[in-house]
This record gives sequence, C-alpha cells and structure tokens, in this order.
Amino acid sequence: MRAAVLHGIGDLRIEDRTRPAVGASEVLLQVMVVGVCGSDLHFYEEGRSGSAVVAGPTVLGHEFSGRIIGVGTGVPTSRIGERVAVEPGTPCGSCQACTVDAYNHCERIRFVGAATIDGAMQEYITVPAGSAYPVPAPVSDAAAAMIEPLSVAVHAVGRAPIGPAQHVLVSGAGPIGHLVAQLAHRRGAASVWLVDPNRDRLAHAHDPIRIATPDEWAAGGRRVDVAFECSGSPNGLTAALTSLRYEASLVIVGVGPRTLELPMDAIQEGELTITGSHRYRHTWPEAIQMVARADVDLDALITHTFPLDDAAAALRVTRTENAALKAVIRL
Ligand SMILES: [Zn+2]
Ligand SMILES: [Zn+2]
Repeated sequence: MRAAVLHGIGDLRIEDRTRPAVGASEVLLQVMVVGVCGSDLHFYEEGRSGSAVVAGPTVLGHEFSGRIIGVGTGVPTSRIGERVAVEPGTPCGSCQACTVDAYNHCERIRFVGAATIDGAMQEYITVPAGSAYPVPAPVSDAAAAMIEPLSVAVHAVGRAPIGPAQHVLVSGAGPIGHLVAQLAHRRGAASVWLVDPNRDRLAHAHDPIRIATPDEWAAGGRRVDVAFECSGSPNGLTAALTSLRYEASLVIVGVGPRTLELPMDAIQEGELTITGSHRYRHTWPEAIQMVARADVDLDALITHTFPLDDAAAALRVTRTENAALKAVIRL
C-alpha cells in the first residue's frame, strides 16, 4: 500500500509499505479522506508541534474517515462495510485523568498521526473498534473526516458559558474558528463576530455570523462576554483579551507561542476568566448527529482536495494560497 511518510523537515515521501495486520479488538480501514490540520504543517515545516517532536519516519493524519474492510477476532463481522469517522486518541483508561473521565488530559493517550504513532495519510490503517464511529448517509466522506476538528469546536464552546443576550468574539477564521462561531450562534448568542486579517477566509462565514478585520474590529470598540482565541497568534490573543467586558471569559483554543506578555491589569481589574481548551472528550456521537441534522456545514469549509501523491502540496496549501481554508486528501 502507498503511504505519505515524513522523514524530516520538508521531506515527505510516497512509499510502498505492507498493509497493517489487524489486532483482536481492532478494525482495518480503507482510508477515504484525511484532513490537513495546522499541526500537520508544524510537523512538516518545523519537525514539531507543541511538545510533540518528529523523531523518525512517521505518517501524519489524525482527521480521517474510512470504510471498515476487516475486523479482529473480538469484533463482530457485521461491522465490515461501515463508513466511519475515527477518534484519533485512545486514552489509557487507568491514569488519574482517565479515572475521573477527563480523558483529554490522559498522560498516556495513544494519538495517531502526532509524530509517534502512524496516522492516516496512507491507504489502510488499523484503529481500535471503539474509536470508529459509523456515520449515516447524509454525512459525506469528507465531512466524516472533519468530525475531528468539529469535536475541537464542540469541546471549546463547552468551556465557556454562552447564553442569550451574550456577545461573542471568535479570533481567527480558520476551520476551527468558523466552527466555533457556528456553534456559538447555535447556542443562542446575541451576536457572534469572526475576526481575521484574511478577507478570503472571512468570506466563508455566512449570516448571522458577522465578520471584521482586526482594524475594523478595533475601530468598532465593541465589548464581548465571551471570546475564543482560535488564531494561535499573539495579536489575536491580545485583541480578544482587550475586547472583553468585565467578568467576561476568554477561551484559548489555538496553539500559539509558548510564552507571551499579557495586560495583567485588565485581567485583575476586569475579573476576567481565562481558560484553555484541549482536544475533546465524548464528542463523536454528538458531532456526527450535528452534521447529519445539518446544524453545521463541514463540506462548505473544504476549499482544496488532493490525491495522496500530492500530500506535500496539501500540507503546504494554506501557505501557498491565501484563499485556502481546509485541504483534504482523498484516497
Ligand atoms: Zn487537527
Ligand atoms: Zn489515561
């Protein structure tokens, strides 16, 4: 089978590998669609993303859908043929975080496509049967792959209280920012503003999400009750923080620099709440239902589709094309 293997910085090779053997509690998937994430680009350009470092040849890809074509001895054969969206992390089940069901903080989570365990930029992959969630017909193969970024957004909006009469700012119009904005609106926010310097990316938002560049946003002088930082940029974070009303909340979703100067007086005097949001837990069933009901439109965020042979171009497209929002690889 063919696999896109990352050997080092900027060194991605299409190689022939043997198809993985399926374990007793696993399913064998024929990969259908793999989404390209900002973290994949970090691995490709810098050899690391956050604390994860590329140590040897590795296959990226943690946002994916596939069709079950084989099952382990402990999995019912009736699952063969299912189209599935895959949760890429498998928690250990026994650490402190796992015992209180906060498994996104699991110390020993096995996460595919994050430099240590091979991901889905290959024709076949095995995953635990319990991580493969069947998707109903209205959910496209590409949308099924995007259940993972949708899950990031579902978890993020759960980290802050959003209710009627509340005004929300989302900083960063990448796929996660768009999804957070849509979900904040679904939760009944009085207004949702999406702010990004890139007008092409903003253009994917539609009514009633309002859009602005950072300059336009600053000129408006608005104050919000909840802000979501989804850009990973220091400017985005500062803008979000200084747009908060008193006793408001900031949720940090984007992966930015490791350290940053902050306006401490604004936090202390404004009695602000600052929280992070890391991955997700128990989100797949809900996220799949949201897409099946057309509560969110994942397909509309996909701007580029590549074959596996062009995986490097797929990784780079947000660098090479200003209008690129979400790239996927279709196998
Ligand atoms: Zn991702
Ligand atoms: Zn654990």
